[in-house]
Amino acid sequence: MHIVEVAAEFAPIAKAGGLGEVIVGLSRELTRTQKKVEVILPKYTFLPKNLRHLKIETPHFAVREKGHTIDNTMWSAQVEECSLRLLETHHPKRYYDRPHIYGEEDDIARFLYFSIAVVEYLKSKKEPIDIIHLHDWHVAAIAPLIRTLHREIQVRMIVLTIHNVEYQGKCSLEDLEAIGLQDTTLLQTEPGQYNLLKGGIEFADAIVPVSPTYAKEILTPSHGFGLDRALSRNHNKIQGILNGIDLKLWDPSQDTALPKHYRALDAPEKIKAAKQLCRESIADRFGMDAKKRPWIGAITRLVPQKGPELIAEGLLQTTRHGGSFAVLGSGAPPNIRHLFEKFKESHKGKALIQLEYNEALAHQLYAALDFLLVPSHFEPCGLTQMIAMRYGTIPIVHATGGLKDTVFDPTDTMHRNQANGFVFKEWTKPSFDQTLERVFKIWQEDSPIIETLRSHGIQSDFGWEKPALAYMKLFNSSC
Ligand code: ADP
Repeated sequence: MHIVEVAAEFAPIAKAGGLGEVIVGLSRELTRTQKKVEVILPKYTFLPKNLRHLKIETPHFAVREKGHTIDNTMWSAQVEECSLRLLETHHPKRYYDRPHIYGEEDDIARFLYFSIAVVEYLKSKKEPIDIIHLHDWHVAAIAPLIRTLHREIQVRMIVLTIHNVEYQGKCSLEDLEAIGLQDTTLLQTEPGQYNLLKGGIEFADAIVPVSPTYAKEILTPSHGFGLDRALSRNHNKIQGILNGIDLKLWDPSQDTALPKHYRALDAPEKIKAAKQLCRESIADRFGMDAKKRPWIGAITRLVPQKGPELIAEGLLQTTRHGGSFAVLGSGAPPNIRHLFEKFKESHKGKALIQLEYNEALAHQLYAALDFLLVPSHFEPCGLTQMIAMRYGTIPIVHATGGLKDTVFDPTDTMHRNQANGFVFKEWTKPSFDQTLERVFKIWQEDSPIIETLRSHGIQSDFGWEKPALAYMKLFNSSC
Protein backbone atom coordinates (compact mmCIF):
# COMPACT_ATOMS: atom_id res chain seq x y z
CA MET A 1 0.00 0.00 0.00
CA HIS A 2 1.29 3.47 -0.89
CA ILE A 3 0.40 5.91 1.91
CA VAL A 4 1.15 9.63 1.90
CA GLU A 5 0.91 11.41 5.25
CA VAL A 6 0.76 15.22 5.04
CA ALA A 7 1.14 17.41 8.13
CA ALA A 8 2.65 20.59 9.53
CA GLU A 9 4.50 18.84 12.39
CA PHE A 10 6.78 15.85 12.92
CA ALA A 11 8.42 15.25 16.33
CA PRO A 12 11.06 15.82 17.47
CA ILE A 13 12.37 17.94 14.58
CA ALA A 14 9.21 20.04 14.08
CA LYS A 15 7.00 19.81 17.16
CA ALA A 16 4.64 22.39 18.58
CA GLY A 17 2.48 19.99 20.63
CA GLY A 18 0.70 16.65 20.54
CA LEU A 19 0.21 16.70 16.74
CA GLY A 20 3.93 16.23 16.01
CA GLU A 21 4.10 13.26 18.37
CA VAL A 22 1.09 11.65 16.74
CA ILE A 23 2.48 12.01 13.20
CA VAL A 24 5.79 10.34 14.09
CA GLY A 25 4.17 7.57 16.15
CA LEU A 26 1.60 6.65 13.52
CA SER A 27 3.97 6.99 10.54
CA ARG A 28 6.64 4.83 12.17
CA GLU A 29 4.11 2.11 12.97
CA LEU A 30 2.66 2.18 9.43
CA THR A 31 6.20 2.10 7.98
CA ARG A 32 6.82 -1.15 9.87
CA THR A 33 4.06 -2.98 8.00
CA GLN A 34 3.51 -1.13 4.72
CA LYS A 35 5.64 -0.99 1.59
CA LYS A 36 5.67 2.71 0.98
CA VAL A 37 4.88 5.39 3.54
CA GLU A 38 5.94 8.97 2.82
CA VAL A 39 5.50 11.87 5.22
CA ILE A 40 5.43 15.30 3.58
CA LEU A 41 6.09 18.47 5.57
CA PRO A 42 7.55 21.92 4.93
CA LYS A 43 11.35 22.19 4.99
CA TYR A 44 11.36 24.69 7.85
CA THR A 45 14.71 26.46 8.05
CA PHE A 46 14.93 25.57 11.78
CA LEU A 47 15.14 21.83 10.97
CA PRO A 48 18.50 20.26 11.91
CA LYS A 49 21.01 20.50 9.03
CA ASN A 50 22.37 17.00 9.57
CA LEU A 51 19.27 14.90 8.84
CA ARG A 52 20.08 11.32 7.78
CA HIS A 53 20.24 10.72 4.00
CA LEU A 54 19.20 14.29 3.28
CA LYS A 55 19.16 14.72 -0.48
CA ILE A 56 17.24 16.35 -3.30
CA GLU A 57 14.41 14.13 -4.49
CA THR A 58 12.81 16.40 -7.13
CA PRO A 59 15.03 19.40 -8.00
CA HIS A 60 12.36 21.55 -9.63
CA PHE A 61 8.61 21.64 -9.82
CA ALA A 62 6.39 24.65 -10.40
CA VAL A 63 3.46 26.10 -8.48
CA ARG A 64 1.20 28.84 -9.85
CA GLU A 65 0.19 31.44 -7.27
CA LYS A 66 -1.68 34.65 -8.20
CA GLY A 67 -0.58 34.32 -11.81
CA HIS A 68 3.12 33.87 -10.94
CA THR A 69 5.12 30.69 -11.38
CA ILE A 70 7.22 29.73 -8.37
CA ASP A 71 9.98 27.15 -8.33
CA ASN A 72 10.17 24.49 -5.57
CA THR A 73 12.45 21.65 -4.57
CA MET A 74 11.43 18.45 -2.79
CA TRP A 75 14.03 16.93 -0.48
CA SER A 76 14.03 13.52 1.15
CA ALA A 77 15.47 12.35 4.48
CA GLN A 78 15.19 9.49 6.96
CA VAL A 79 14.06 10.54 10.41
CA GLU A 80 12.83 8.28 13.22
CA GLU A 81 12.68 5.32 10.78
CA CYS A 82 10.31 7.29 8.50
CA SER A 83 10.80 8.53 4.92
CA LEU A 84 10.29 12.25 4.93
CA ARG A 85 9.67 14.54 1.97
CA LEU A 86 10.55 18.13 2.79
CA LEU A 87 9.16 20.92 0.67
CA GLU A 88 11.52 23.80 0.03
CA THR A 89 9.99 26.73 -1.76
CA HIS A 90 11.81 29.52 -3.58
CA HIS A 91 8.83 31.79 -2.89
CA PRO A 92 9.87 35.44 -2.30
CA LYS A 93 7.92 35.46 0.98
CA ARG A 94 10.15 32.69 2.43
CA TYR A 95 7.13 30.98 3.94
CA TYR A 96 9.05 28.38 5.98
CA ASP A 97 11.96 30.59 7.00
CA ARG A 98 10.34 31.63 10.29
CA PRO A 99 11.26 30.89 13.91
CA HIS A 100 8.08 28.87 14.64
CA ILE A 101 5.70 26.46 12.92
CA TYR A 102 2.61 28.59 13.60
CA GLY A 103 1.69 32.00 14.87
CA GLU A 104 2.72 34.03 11.83
CA GLU A 105 0.37 36.65 10.36
CA ASP A 106 0.37 34.87 7.01
CA ASP A 107 -0.25 31.33 8.36
CA ILE A 108 -3.23 30.88 5.98
CA ALA A 109 -1.10 31.77 2.94
CA ARG A 110 1.82 29.65 4.20
CA PHE A 111 -0.26 26.48 4.60
CA LEU A 112 -2.39 27.04 1.50
CA TYR A 113 0.85 27.31 -0.41
CA PHE A 114 2.12 24.12 1.20
CA SER A 115 -1.13 22.39 0.21
CA ILE A 116 -1.00 23.38 -3.46
CA ALA A 117 2.74 22.58 -3.60
CA VAL A 118 2.06 19.05 -2.26
CA VAL A 119 -0.61 18.61 -4.94
CA GLU A 120 1.76 19.77 -7.72
CA TYR A 121 4.48 17.49 -6.40
CA LEU A 122 2.19 14.44 -6.33
CA LYS A 123 1.02 15.33 -9.86
CA SER A 124 4.61 15.47 -11.09
CA LYS A 125 5.26 11.97 -9.68
CA LYS A 126 2.41 10.40 -11.68
CA GLU A 127 2.27 7.46 -9.25
CA PRO A 128 -1.02 5.92 -8.12
CA ILE A 129 -1.57 6.46 -4.40
CA ASP A 130 -3.74 4.36 -2.12
CA ILE A 131 -4.17 6.76 0.77
CA ILE A 132 -3.57 10.47 1.22
CA HIS A 133 -3.83 11.12 4.93
CA LEU A 134 -4.30 14.78 5.90
CA HIS A 135 -3.98 16.19 9.42
CA ASP A 136 -5.91 19.26 10.60
CA TRP A 137 -6.77 22.51 8.83
CA HIS A 138 -3.21 23.22 7.72
CA VAL A 139 -3.44 20.70 4.89
CA ALA A 140 -7.21 20.08 4.66
CA ALA A 141 -7.44 22.10 1.40
CA ILE A 142 -5.63 19.25 -0.35
CA ALA A 143 -8.93 17.30 -0.37
CA PRO A 144 -10.92 19.87 -2.42
CA LEU A 145 -7.84 20.64 -4.55
CA ILE A 146 -7.57 16.99 -5.63
CA ARG A 147 -11.27 16.22 -5.88
CA THR A 148 -12.23 19.35 -7.86
CA LEU A 149 -9.19 20.75 -9.63
CA HIS A 150 -6.43 18.17 -9.95
CA ARG A 151 -8.36 14.97 -10.60
CA GLU A 152 -5.48 13.49 -12.59
CA ILE A 153 -3.87 12.49 -9.27
CA GLN A 154 -4.92 8.88 -8.84
CA VAL A 155 -5.81 8.41 -5.19
CA ARG A 156 -8.11 5.73 -3.86
CA MET A 157 -8.98 7.37 -0.54
CA ILE A 158 -8.43 10.74 1.12
CA VAL A 159 -8.56 10.56 4.92
CA LEU A 160 -8.75 13.64 7.14
CA THR A 161 -7.79 13.27 10.79
CA ILE A 162 -9.17 16.03 13.03
CA HIS A 163 -6.93 16.61 16.04
CA ASN A 164 -8.83 19.68 17.24
CA VAL A 165 -11.89 21.15 15.54
CA GLU A 166 -11.42 24.49 17.30
CA TYR A 167 -8.63 25.36 14.86
CA GLN A 168 -10.15 25.67 11.39
CA GLY A 169 -8.18 27.93 9.06
CA LYS A 170 -10.82 30.62 8.55
CA CYS A 171 -10.01 32.59 5.42
CA SER A 172 -11.27 34.75 2.55
CA LEU A 173 -12.18 33.97 -1.03
CA GLU A 174 -9.01 35.75 -2.20
CA ASP A 175 -6.90 33.34 -0.13
CA LEU A 176 -8.50 30.40 -1.94
CA GLU A 177 -8.27 32.04 -5.36
CA ALA A 178 -4.54 32.57 -4.83
CA ILE A 179 -4.03 28.81 -5.19
CA GLY A 180 -6.57 28.46 -7.99
CA LEU A 181 -9.47 26.97 -5.98
CA GLN A 182 -12.60 27.99 -7.89
CA ASP A 183 -15.25 25.56 -6.68
CA THR A 184 -15.49 27.09 -3.21
CA THR A 185 -19.18 26.82 -2.22
CA LEU A 186 -18.61 23.89 0.10
CA LEU A 187 -15.79 25.73 1.88
CA GLN A 188 -18.09 28.60 2.75
CA THR A 189 -19.54 28.93 6.26
CA GLU A 190 -21.21 32.34 6.01
CA PRO A 191 -21.35 34.96 3.27
CA GLY A 192 -17.76 36.03 2.65
CA GLN A 193 -16.31 33.51 5.16
CA TYR A 194 -14.42 30.41 4.11
CA ASN A 195 -12.96 27.59 6.13
CA LEU A 196 -10.20 25.15 5.17
CA LEU A 197 -11.18 22.45 7.68
CA LYS A 198 -14.72 22.51 6.26
CA GLY A 199 -13.20 21.89 2.82
CA GLY A 200 -11.50 18.79 4.20
CA ILE A 201 -14.71 17.60 5.89
CA GLU A 202 -16.75 17.94 2.71
CA PHE A 203 -14.26 16.41 0.27
CA ALA A 204 -12.41 13.72 2.26
CA ASP A 205 -13.65 10.14 1.90
CA ALA A 206 -13.19 9.44 5.61
CA ILE A 207 -12.94 11.66 8.68
CA VAL A 208 -11.13 10.50 11.81
CA PRO A 209 -11.59 12.44 15.06
CA VAL A 210 -8.91 11.32 17.51
CA SER A 211 -11.13 9.43 19.96
CA PRO A 212 -14.54 7.71 19.81
CA THR A 213 -16.08 10.12 22.35
CA TYR A 214 -14.74 13.18 20.51
CA ALA A 215 -16.25 11.75 17.30
CA LYS A 216 -19.68 12.08 18.94
CA GLU A 217 -19.02 15.37 20.73
CA ILE A 218 -18.06 17.33 17.60
CA LEU A 219 -21.53 16.71 16.16
CA THR A 220 -22.98 18.96 18.89
CA PRO A 221 -23.04 22.80 18.86
CA SER A 222 -21.07 23.01 22.13
CA HIS A 223 -18.08 21.06 20.75
CA GLY A 224 -18.36 21.56 16.98
CA PHE A 225 -17.19 25.20 16.96
CA GLY A 226 -19.61 26.04 14.14
CA LEU A 227 -18.76 22.94 12.06
CA ASP A 228 -21.19 20.58 13.85
CA ARG A 229 -23.76 20.87 11.07
CA ALA A 230 -21.22 20.13 8.33
CA LEU A 231 -19.90 17.21 10.38
CA SER A 232 -23.40 15.86 11.07
CA ARG A 233 -24.21 15.95 7.36
CA ASN A 234 -21.07 13.85 6.78
CA HIS A 235 -21.54 11.60 9.83
CA ASN A 236 -21.42 8.40 7.75
CA LYS A 237 -17.76 9.18 6.92
CA ILE A 238 -16.76 9.64 10.58
CA GLN A 239 -14.94 7.08 12.70
CA GLY A 240 -13.11 7.92 15.93
CA ILE A 241 -9.67 6.35 16.44
CA LEU A 242 -7.76 6.91 19.68
CA ASN A 243 -4.16 8.14 19.38
CA GLY A 244 -1.26 6.22 20.86
CA ILE A 245 1.88 7.48 22.57
CA ASP A 246 5.46 6.87 21.52
CA LEU A 247 6.63 4.09 23.84
CA LYS A 248 10.28 4.79 23.06
CA LEU A 249 10.11 8.47 23.84
CA TRP A 250 8.04 7.87 26.97
CA ASP A 251 9.78 5.04 28.78
CA PRO A 252 10.66 5.37 32.49
CA SER A 253 13.08 2.44 32.18
CA GLN A 254 15.34 4.33 29.73
CA ASP A 255 14.36 7.98 29.97
CA THR A 256 17.63 9.95 29.95
CA ALA A 257 15.94 12.90 31.68
CA LEU A 258 15.31 10.87 34.86
CA PRO A 259 17.77 10.50 37.77
CA LYS A 260 16.42 6.99 38.49
CA HIS A 261 14.82 4.44 36.18
CA TYR A 262 11.99 2.00 36.84
CA ARG A 263 9.87 -0.38 34.82
CA ALA A 264 6.23 -1.39 34.79
CA LEU A 265 7.01 -4.90 36.04
CA ASP A 266 9.12 -3.78 39.01
CA ALA A 267 7.70 -4.46 42.48
CA PRO A 268 5.46 -1.58 43.67
CA GLU A 269 7.94 -0.69 46.44
CA LYS A 270 10.74 -0.34 43.89
CA ILE A 271 8.64 1.90 41.66
CA LYS A 272 7.63 4.04 44.65
CA ALA A 273 11.25 4.41 45.74
CA ALA A 274 12.39 5.40 42.24
CA LYS A 275 9.59 7.94 41.93
CA GLN A 276 10.55 9.39 45.33
CA LEU A 277 14.14 9.88 44.08
CA CYS A 278 12.81 11.67 40.99
CA ARG A 279 10.70 13.86 43.29
CA GLU A 280 13.68 14.67 45.54
CA SER A 281 15.76 15.72 42.56
CA ILE A 282 13.06 18.20 41.47
CA ALA A 283 12.45 19.33 45.05
CA ASP A 284 16.18 20.16 45.46
CA ARG A 285 16.27 22.16 42.24
CA PHE A 286 13.08 24.14 42.82
CA GLY A 287 13.03 24.61 46.59
CA MET A 288 10.13 22.19 47.15
CA ASP A 289 9.60 19.49 49.78
CA ALA A 290 9.51 15.91 48.43
CA LYS A 291 7.84 14.72 51.64
CA LYS A 292 4.86 17.10 51.38
CA ARG A 293 2.55 14.76 49.50
CA PRO A 294 0.62 14.05 47.44
CA TRP A 295 2.44 15.76 44.60
CA ILE A 296 -0.19 16.79 42.09
CA GLY A 297 0.45 18.73 38.89
CA ALA A 298 -0.44 19.73 35.35
CA ILE A 299 1.79 19.59 32.26
CA THR A 300 -0.02 21.50 29.59
CA ARG A 301 -0.47 24.35 27.21
CA LEU A 302 -1.97 26.79 29.69
CA VAL A 303 -4.80 27.96 27.42
CA PRO A 304 -8.56 28.26 28.17
CA GLN A 305 -9.31 24.81 26.62
CA LYS A 306 -7.21 23.13 29.32
CA GLY A 307 -9.29 24.49 32.23
CA PRO A 308 -6.74 26.76 33.96
CA GLU A 309 -9.39 27.81 36.53
CA LEU A 310 -9.59 24.24 37.84
CA ILE A 311 -5.81 23.87 37.72
CA ALA A 312 -5.69 26.93 40.01
CA GLU A 313 -8.38 25.38 42.22
CA GLY A 314 -6.36 22.12 42.33
CA LEU A 315 -3.30 24.08 43.46
CA LEU A 316 -5.22 25.75 46.29
CA GLN A 317 -6.87 22.53 47.46
CA THR A 318 -3.69 20.44 47.28
CA THR A 319 -1.54 22.89 49.20
CA ARG A 320 -4.34 23.38 51.77
CA HIS A 321 -4.27 19.59 52.34
CA GLY A 322 -0.52 19.71 52.95
CA GLY A 323 0.50 18.45 49.51
CA SER A 324 2.62 20.03 46.76
CA PHE A 325 1.53 21.26 43.34
CA ALA A 326 3.44 21.67 40.06
CA VAL A 327 2.40 23.57 36.94
CA LEU A 328 4.45 23.29 33.77
CA GLY A 329 2.43 25.50 31.45
CA SER A 330 3.25 26.97 28.05
CA GLY A 331 1.57 29.54 25.81
CA ALA A 332 -0.48 31.17 28.57
CA PRO A 333 -2.36 34.34 27.61
CA PRO A 334 -1.52 37.37 29.83
CA ASN A 335 -4.43 37.00 32.32
CA ILE A 336 -3.70 33.31 33.00
CA ARG A 337 0.06 33.95 33.17
CA HIS A 338 -0.58 36.70 35.69
CA LEU A 339 -2.73 34.41 37.89
CA PHE A 340 -0.06 31.70 38.05
CA GLU A 341 2.78 34.19 38.56
CA LYS A 342 0.94 35.35 41.65
CA PHE A 343 0.77 31.74 42.93
CA LYS A 344 4.53 31.49 42.42
CA GLU A 345 4.95 34.31 44.96
CA SER A 346 2.21 33.29 47.40
CA HIS A 347 2.96 29.53 47.47
CA LYS A 348 6.78 29.43 47.60
CA GLY A 349 8.02 25.96 48.55
CA LYS A 350 4.57 24.44 48.04
CA ALA A 351 3.96 25.13 44.36
CA LEU A 352 6.38 24.80 41.46
CA ILE A 353 5.28 27.12 38.67
CA GLN A 354 7.21 27.06 35.39
CA LEU A 355 5.46 29.01 32.63
CA GLU A 356 7.39 27.67 29.67
CA TYR A 357 7.71 24.71 27.30
CA ASN A 358 10.33 22.42 28.81
CA GLU A 359 10.65 18.90 27.42
CA ALA A 360 13.13 17.58 30.03
CA LEU A 361 11.18 18.96 32.98
CA ALA A 362 7.99 17.44 31.55
CA HIS A 363 9.66 13.98 31.59
CA GLN A 364 10.92 14.53 35.15
CA LEU A 365 7.52 15.68 36.40
CA TYR A 366 5.65 12.73 34.87
CA ALA A 367 7.93 10.54 37.02
CA ALA A 368 7.83 12.71 40.15
CA LEU A 369 4.09 13.34 40.45
CA ASP A 370 1.63 11.16 42.34
CA PHE A 371 -1.33 12.53 40.34
CA LEU A 372 -1.65 14.43 37.06
CA LEU A 373 -4.55 16.82 36.72
CA VAL A 374 -6.21 17.17 33.28
CA PRO A 375 -9.33 19.31 33.77
CA SER A 376 -9.82 20.28 30.09
CA HIS A 377 -13.18 21.69 29.02
CA PHE A 378 -12.81 19.44 25.99
CA GLU A 379 -9.95 17.15 24.97
CA PRO A 380 -9.96 15.52 21.50
CA CYS A 381 -7.65 12.70 22.66
CA GLY A 382 -5.06 14.00 25.12
CA LEU A 383 -1.63 12.44 25.45
CA THR A 384 -0.64 13.64 28.92
CA GLN A 385 -2.99 11.28 30.81
CA MET A 386 -1.57 8.29 28.89
CA ILE A 387 2.04 9.40 29.44
CA ALA A 388 1.32 9.91 33.14
CA MET A 389 -0.03 6.37 33.51
CA ARG A 390 3.06 4.97 31.80
CA TYR A 391 5.14 6.73 34.47
CA GLY A 392 3.03 5.36 37.34
CA THR A 393 1.23 8.66 37.90
CA ILE A 394 -2.53 8.55 38.42
CA PRO A 395 -4.62 10.88 36.24
CA ILE A 396 -7.50 13.00 37.55
CA VAL A 397 -9.53 14.07 34.51
CA HIS A 398 -12.75 15.64 33.27
CA ALA A 399 -14.99 13.12 31.48
CA THR A 400 -14.58 14.45 27.96
CA GLY A 401 -13.21 13.22 24.61
CA GLY A 402 -10.21 10.92 24.81
CA LEU A 403 -9.92 11.45 28.57
CA LYS A 404 -13.26 9.68 28.95
CA ASP A 405 -12.09 6.86 26.67
CA THR A 406 -8.82 6.19 28.51
CA VAL A 407 -9.37 6.96 32.22
CA PHE A 408 -11.74 4.89 34.34
CA ASP A 409 -12.81 5.76 37.87
CA PRO A 410 -13.06 3.05 40.58
CA THR A 411 -16.77 3.98 40.95
CA ASP A 412 -17.39 3.21 37.24
CA THR A 413 -19.09 -0.20 37.39
CA MET A 414 -18.79 -0.73 33.61
CA HIS A 415 -14.97 -0.71 33.81
CA ARG A 416 -14.43 -2.04 37.34
CA ASN A 417 -11.42 -4.17 36.42
CA GLN A 418 -9.76 -1.40 34.43
CA ALA A 419 -9.93 1.43 37.01
CA ASN A 420 -6.82 3.58 36.51
CA GLY A 421 -7.66 7.11 37.65
CA PHE A 422 -10.24 9.60 38.87
CA VAL A 423 -12.91 11.15 36.69
CA PHE A 424 -15.23 14.10 37.39
CA LYS A 425 -18.33 14.18 35.24
CA GLU A 426 -19.32 17.87 35.19
CA TRP A 427 -16.90 20.67 34.43
CA THR A 428 -17.91 22.59 37.57
CA LYS A 429 -16.11 23.52 40.75
CA PRO A 430 -18.40 21.38 42.99
CA SER A 431 -17.98 18.29 40.81
CA PHE A 432 -14.20 18.83 40.69
CA ASP A 433 -13.92 19.55 44.44
CA GLN A 434 -15.88 16.41 45.28
CA THR A 435 -13.50 14.31 43.23
CA LEU A 436 -10.43 15.93 44.77
CA GLU A 437 -11.88 15.30 48.24
CA ARG A 438 -12.22 11.63 47.30
CA VAL A 439 -8.58 11.60 46.16
CA PHE A 440 -7.33 13.17 49.41
CA LYS A 441 -9.44 10.80 51.52
CA ILE A 442 -8.13 7.71 49.74
CA TRP A 443 -4.60 9.10 49.94
CA GLN A 444 -4.79 9.85 53.67
CA GLU A 445 -6.21 6.39 54.39
CA ASP A 446 -3.30 4.97 52.38
CA SER A 447 -5.93 2.86 50.68
CA PRO A 448 -4.84 -0.10 48.52
CA ILE A 449 -6.96 1.47 45.73
CA ILE A 450 -4.07 3.82 44.99
CA GLU A 451 -1.76 0.91 44.19
CA THR A 452 -4.45 -0.81 42.11
CA LEU A 453 -5.00 2.31 39.99
CA ARG A 454 -1.27 2.87 39.56
CA SER A 455 -0.57 -0.70 38.51
CA HIS A 456 -3.48 -0.77 36.03
CA GLY A 457 -2.19 2.45 34.49
CA ILE A 458 1.50 1.54 34.29
CA GLN A 459 0.72 -1.83 32.74
CA SER A 460 -1.64 -0.50 30.06
CA ASP A 461 -0.62 -0.63 26.43
CA PHE A 462 -0.95 2.86 24.97
CA GLY A 463 1.42 2.20 22.05
CA TRP A 464 0.71 2.80 18.37
CA GLU A 465 0.19 -0.83 17.38
CA LYS A 466 -3.57 -0.89 18.05
CA PRO A 467 -4.38 2.56 16.63
CA ALA A 468 -2.30 1.83 13.48
CA LEU A 469 -4.27 -1.41 12.98
CA ALA A 470 -7.52 0.57 13.22
CA TYR A 471 -6.21 3.01 10.59
CA MET A 472 -5.16 0.10 8.33
CA LYS A 473 -8.64 -1.41 8.62
CA LEU A 474 -10.09 1.94 7.55
CA PHE A 475 -7.52 2.30 4.71
CA ASN A 476 -8.49 -1.15 3.46
CA SER A 477 -12.21 -0.54 3.72
CA SER A 478 -12.63 0.82 0.20
CA CYS A 479 -10.50 -1.90 -1.51
P1 ADP B 1 -2.23 19.38 23.00
O1 ADP B 1 -1.77 18.76 21.71
O2 ADP B 1 -3.64 19.93 22.96
O3 ADP B 1 -1.27 20.39 23.55
P2 ADP B 1 -1.86 16.73 24.13
O4 ADP B 1 -2.17 16.18 25.48
O5 ADP B 1 -2.43 16.02 22.96
O6 ADP B 1 -2.30 18.25 24.14
O7 ADP B 1 -0.27 16.75 23.91
C1 ADP B 1 0.56 17.54 24.68
C2 ADP B 1 2.03 17.12 24.51
O8 ADP B 1 2.84 18.28 24.73
C3 ADP B 1 2.46 16.11 25.54
O9 ADP B 1 3.56 15.37 25.03
C4 ADP B 1 2.96 16.98 26.71
O10 ADP B 1 3.92 16.31 27.52
C5 ADP B 1 3.59 18.12 25.95
N1 ADP B 1 3.52 19.39 26.69
C6 ADP B 1 2.44 20.16 26.93
N2 ADP B 1 2.77 21.26 27.59
C7 ADP B 1 4.12 21.19 27.81
C8 ADP B 1 5.06 22.06 28.44
N3 ADP B 1 4.69 23.20 29.00
N4 ADP B 1 6.35 21.67 28.44
C9 ADP B 1 6.72 20.51 27.88
N5 ADP B 1 5.88 19.66 27.27
C10 ADP B 1 4.59 19.99 27.21
